[in-house]
Amino acid sequence: MNKRIVILGGGISGVGAAILAKKQSFDVFVSDFGKISEENKKLLSNEGINFEEEKHTYELILNADEIIKSPGIPDNAPIIVSAKEKSISIISEIEFASRYTNAKMICITGSNGKTTTTELTYHIYKKAGLNVAMAGNVGKSFALQVAKGNYDYFILELSSFQLDGMFNFKADVAILLNITPDHLNRYNNVFQNYINSKFRITQNMTEDDIFIYNEDDPIILEEIKKRNIKAQKIPFSVKNELEVGAYKKLEKIIININSKHFNMENSLLSLEGDHNVYNSMAAGISGLVEGISNQQLKKSFSDFAGVEHRLEKYIKVRGIQFINDSKATNVNSVWYALQSIDDDIVLIMGGKEDGNNYSTLKDLVRQKVKAIVAMGVDNSKIIEAFKDITKVYDTNSMEDAVNTSYKIAKHGDVVLLSPACKSFDLFKNFEDRGKQFKQAVRNL
Ligand code: ADP
Repeated sequence: MNKRIVILGGGISGVGAAILAKKQSFDVFVSDFGKISEENKKLLSNEGINFEEEKHTYELILNADEIIKSPGIPDNAPIIVSAKEKSISIISEIEFASRYTNAKMICITGSNGKTTTTELTYHIYKKAGLNVAMAGNVGKSFALQVAKGNYDYFILELSSFQLDGMFNFKADVAILLNITPDHLNRYNNVFQNYINSKFRITQNMTEDDIFIYNEDDPIILEEIKKRNIKAQKIPFSVKNELEVGAYKKLEKIIININSKHFNMENSLLSLEGDHNVYNSMAAGISGLVEGISNQQLKKSFSDFAGVEHRLEKYIKVRGIQFINDSKATNVNSVWYALQSIDDDIVLIMGGKEDGNNYSTLKDLVRQKVKAIVAMGVDNSKIIEAFKDITKVYDTNSMEDAVNTSYKIAKHGDVVLLSPACKSFDLFKNFEDRGKQFKQAVRNL
């Protein structure tokens, strides 16, 4: 009898995993506790894959040989607890699909900058003419692309939740951008658990593999000391000159690895801000180690279009620049946003927060922010944190927040949406929040 694979979650990654599992002749069943989109239901039906929605039928799930779990389902969900009691192997879509491809894996994780770095790395590889696809937390499902395509390289964005379901997977090149507290509610509020999860990106690596990491991040440095990572380590830094690795000197990015030497004026990078210097360095190293030429790298660094909702310079209205940084869902990313802007800022922030500590933002707010427009169902924590430093306005909708900001800002100022919070109190998700911001700006 064919082995049975049950997929929990009928989203993009679940449907991709189901299609690949079917192609590999498994007995496949998809179960989603919520609704499955019409589009995904059609995809499953077309492939003759059985599924259920708005329920989990235990008898149809706990008879699995292996379960592929969507990263959105926490470990304490009753169905996962039951599956663990029965010692059923529970893995992620990434772990599953990696068994069926020999492509090289370029993997990117970190608390912030994953999508930007993934898209930039993909852009660099693609423009260099390599046969490459992008997957993980961005774009199409990894499993689907393994099922339908034939690639030499995958650029994979990996969240900590995806990494938690990965065991035998090995990255050929791993990038660790930074580690700051995030999603701690899924890690029993223990920061070390989250750090361990991020470091799973280095698991199974050998001397032939490459680990690219942020030398300026104290958490990463400390953790590396504790571990025996076999891969060749290549650091990047904006603070220190490095013999091997990437660093910033006199407004230039310099990369020295093995016998390769690359340098480029910072001002020629299409992405602005120190955080993007980090992202560019990491992506650049991953390109150079795969043999991409200096000339190709320079061109890709300078013509990368950026990613929507990440410090996206939207439009100017009466000389006021509106910037959409809706993806800034934690305090650290707001810090970099403020740091990268030289003009006076009206900052729209707020939303659903999980234990934010705003103290690291206070200096930058004092220097650069002429007013904060708090936008959320409950703004009390933001008002409390900043009321002695700058003017704080209390709003509860995007329209009100944008209109209020527009009244306060003057010609030459910036209105920055960089919320430091998740979007779920007023919006569907961060994309919806960013789109509503842009619509409200167009309505001015
Ligand atoms: P992720 O996929 O990890 O959430 P994104 O590339 O989508 O990262 O960026 C999320 C937010 O973090 C954006 O507001 C962006 O401007 C900011 N950001 C991007 N890169 C970094 C970085 N290296 N360090 C800190 N913040 C960053």
